[in-house]
Amino acid sequence: MTFDTTIAAISTAYGESGIGIIRLSGPKSLSILKSVFCPGRKIAPEKLGSFEFRPRYMHFGSIVDPEDLKVLDEALCVYMKAPASYSGEDCCEIQCHGGMTVLKEILALCLRQGAEPAERGEFTKRAFVNGRLDLAQAEAVMDLISARSERGMSSAVSQVRGSLSQRIREEREKLLDILVGLTVDMDYPDEDVEAQTLEKLAKDLAPVRDSLRELLSRAGEGRIIREGLDVAIAGKPNVGKSSLMNALLRHDRSIVTEIPGTTRDTVEESASLRGIALRLTDTAGIRESSDPVESMGIERSRAAIEKSDLALLVFDLSRPFDEEDEKLLKAAEGRKAILVLNKCDLEQKLEISRLSGRGEEERPLVSCSARTGAGLEELADEIEKAVYGGLKRTDDPILTNVRHAELARKAAQSLDQALLMASRGEALDLIEIYARDAFVLLGEITGDSASDEVIDAVFERFCLGK
Ligand code: GDP
Repeated sequence: MTFDTTIAAISTAYGESGIGIIRLSGPKSLSILKSVFCPGRKIAPEKLGSFEFRPRYMHFGSIVDPEDLKVLDEALCVYMKAPASYSGEDCCEIQCHGGMTVLKEILALCLRQGAEPAERGEFTKRAFVNGRLDLAQAEAVMDLISARSERGMSSAVSQVRGSLSQRIREEREKLLDILVGLTVDMDYPDEDVEAQTLEKLAKDLAPVRDSLRELLSRAGEGRIIREGLDVAIAGKPNVGKSSLMNALLRHDRSIVTEIPGTTRDTVEESASLRGIALRLTDTAGIRESSDPVESMGIERSRAAIEKSDLALLVFDLSRPFDEEDEKLLKAAEGRKAILVLNKCDLEQKLEISRLSGRGEEERPLVSCSARTGAGLEELADEIEKAVYGGLKRTDDPILTNVRHAELARKAAQSLDQALLMASRGEALDLIEIYARDAFVLLGEITGDSASDEVIDAVFERFCLGK
């Protein structure tokens, strides 16, 4: 499919910067660029519209309004001939100075010359329609742009390069083979081979289902890789929560003081630990208080533990276990947590036995010192383990996108149904319905069988100029 329109947009971020880029895509991109490009520094009307661009070469010149020969900026311009471009169409880029006025003026000039303003994600949508990318790859482009950590970035890059799409397509092809076989069996029913057919069917379907389940088992990890891990740091006043947060962030964000209860509100910060994005919330101490400001903080602290992916429950090794520590353990019951024993550089007064044996699954316990840095590596190890849930970190494709995970989950459920029917010896055409469902659902991930509504909804979330 080809588009008749030529679209244009500012593709770099809004604000002041060294350079900014205006991108054009569509059949008229080259003629529009030629109409405003004057090679070299000397402006002459006869030069406009006549310069021969060599594809994929940078050309230096001036951007000139042909109406009044006003020079808008000096620029480097490049023409990428279809189909060897990002969108698969003729594309041009004007690299000029990065001020918003310059960029807007040049964009307006391109629009006067016949381009139309691009919608959100329209360059990538055209790339998708022209078969340069599939839907999952296009979505990964957006994830790459918004990646907040090294792990998020490498997972997005690998998906842009097609790792997840390839895995999904492999499973989909296996299903297609099964569906073709089924159609043949349904057309030529043979009573005698029925049991054998069902057995073979189950043997072929099960590995596809298992492979999807395996992908899904890592979907939680995928969300964390993409969005980051919510970590609540909780503990009574003065155990060293702020110091610990700062030690983890390696810069002073919250004020560290000797007076208990200064971190009244919650303080949120982002950090990157072993390539994983962390959103750290330093909560006020768990403590009943008559001070209304502080008791609000306590509520926030409980709420922060509630909504966190992981809580760091901080105890002070230099003070005996007390009621407030007990309250903290209560507040975190049933939540994923690491017990952090801070101030290991001081003389130990805490009875560690009071922290364990609570009937719950044993929680990891780390002794450390926010002051000296001792034990922080072990703490990082435990946080990393919490992310990967005991699984080994791999570079296999991971379902980081909620839309993909939802579709894979539904596909696996359809295959569960198909397998159940096969085990009950149900009619082949019933089983075929479920297997076909799974086939279609997987196709929605890559866009092979996605409706226009789904495709539009995906691209609406993109940024302008991409
Ligand atoms: P919060 O109220 O839990 O946030 O505690 P702070 O981080 O404000 O720390 C309270 C006091 O304990 C400060 O004086 C810190 O310097 C001190 N502190 C924090 N961590 C350590 C540690 O590991 N060792 C020692 N000796 N002091 C610490």
